[in-house]
Amino acid sequence: MNDIKVAVLGSEGVGKSALIVRFLTRRFIGEYASSSECIYRKRLSIDGRQLNLELYDPCSQAKPSIVHLIRELHLGATKRDVDSVVFLVGNKQDLCHVREVSREEGQQLAAEGKCQFYELSAAEHYQEVALMFSKVVRNASLNGKAK
Ligand code: GDP
Ligand code: MG
Repeated sequence: MNDIKVAVLGSEGVGKSALIVRFLTRRFIGEYASSSECIYRKRLSIDGRQLNLELYDPCSQAKPSIVHLIRELHLGATKRDVDSVVFLVGNKQDLCHVREVSREEGQQLAAEGKCQFYELSAAEHYQEVALMFSKVVRNASLNGKAK
């Protein structure tokens, strides 16, 4: 059985817990505890392979610099001699009328940081949330990170 560990990182309030809970339960419940960190575990089958997925939801952080965060993730992977799989995800697509970051800015940041880019909504689009997480898991397992 392979283990895949995924950390969902970002500023407080961006919807990290909402995305994880949506993926695991299919539900969007609206309010999520943020006082303690959680690790969620799920067994799933991808391309006929059984995987143990661990999803790490940190207790909410101060506003990280995205550029710095992405660089740290790649550096950390290089130090451990593994390939990094980093997805840059813009949540709350349903609130596009009050958008603060354009899709183009997000795409550019992702290209510079060698990440895949997604925009979605935990509130509205279960299928896209599920697809995004399954792509993260598939990429991580294809990169030989699964032990
Ligand atoms: P976290 O601090 O990153 O874990 O953020 P939360 O998951 O606790 O979400 C913060 C707030 O944003 C909550 O009130 C959620 O209901 C709301 N939220 C999360 N995702 C979405 C979304 O896709 N659309 C909308 N409209 N609200 C969202
Ligand atoms: Mg949270």
